[in-house]
Amino acid sequence: MGHKTLCEWRRNEIPFELKALRKIVKKPKFVCGKCARSANDKQYLCQPLRLKGKEE
Ligand SMILES: [Zn+2]
Repeated sequence: MGHKTLCEWRRNEIPFELKALRKIVKKPKFVCGKCARSANDKQYLCQPLRLKGKEE
């Protein structure tokens, strides 16, 4: 799957990438300000915002 953001995932791809998805959304630290998706690494989001703590 490479470094494609979650925001770019297509609905029909999700069932095939469930394992990867579970890892990505486990204990999320970031949320996408545009798509409202969450991830534990900002590289997976197109417009990452920190969920906790101060902004960078
Ligand atoms: Zn996004």
